[in-house]
Amino acid sequence: MGFDVIVIGAGPAGSSTAREIASAGFEVGLFEEHEMVGVPQHCTGMLTIRGCQSLKIEIPDHVIQTRPEIVKISHKNSSFEFPFKIYVVGRSRFDKYLAEEAVKAGAILKTGSRVKGIRRRDHGWIVSTSSGEKFESKLLVGAEGFKVLSVEWVGLKRPQDNAVCLQYEIELRSPIDQNVIECIFGSDVAPGGYAWIVPISEKTLRVGLGIRRSRRSPKHYLE
Ligand SMILES: Cc1cc2nc3c(=O)[nH]c(=O)nc-3n(C[C@H](O)[C@H](O)[C@H](O)COP(=O)(O)OP(=O)(O)OC[C@H]3O[C@@H](n4cnc5c(N)ncnc54)[C@H](O)[C@@H]3O)c2cc1C
Repeated sequence: MGFDVIVIGAGPAGSSTAREIASAGFEVGLFEEHEMVGVPQHCTGMLTIRGCQSLKIEIPDHVIQTRPEIVKISHKNSSFEFPFKIYVVGRSRFDKYLAEEAVKAGAILKTGSRVKGIRRRDHGWIVSTSSGEKFESKLLVGAEGFKVLSVEWVGLKRPQDNAVCLQYEIELRSPIDQNVIECIFGSDVAPGGYAWIVPISEKTLRVGLGIRRSRRSPKHYLE
């Protein structure tokens, strides 16, 4: 089977790209390694409304969990707040929605299809998947997220300076302010990064952090 373009990875980057290329009338294969798009979920789901508008992504209501309008920045004993409109989305639903949009535009979504290698043939590519299938494509888009395998496959270097993140979803006994997200900075809280507290419902929060170049684990700082 052949495509004009194969997109590797049905995350937000891959599905949005597949949607755009398919809308322009090209045959697009969108390959996702997991059986279900968006599962497992590794994200807090904060999207700026301005970012969504500039990417021409309409976020449907069923994907949005909360709509905070204030960001609070804290460092040690000081903090300040400023207005900033954000959608907090459920990433599984968001990714599924974007993949459905790509399919509506004409892309062929193949789930459970992990791309395990690519090689050049004439002016195109042969893409091999974990199920042993092979597909031809004129162009490839590597959108496989932090693994950036396709970068290595074409002989480029992977980025070295990755952040390591950890996040919990916590259910509280009493209701919380759903209008504020908090970002906490400090080398004793999250060295090289920051921690976040994000409301996702009346009594549920995502609490997490990302750190860089630390000898200790994110679990050490989060707990
Ligand atoms: C804890 C945490 C919190 C975050 N919070 C936010 C936030 O609040 N707001 C924000 O904007 N960003 C956030 N991010 C970053 C955000 O998750 C990423 O920037 C975003 O997911 C990148 O999208 P992507 O489409 O490039 O890659 P991904 O979302 O990683 O999607 C890549 C897809 O490719 C698939 N794939 C990988 N390898 C293969 C293969 N070989 N074959 C087929 N499929 C493959 C994967 O299964 C996946 O579905 C957070 C990240 C983490 C870790």
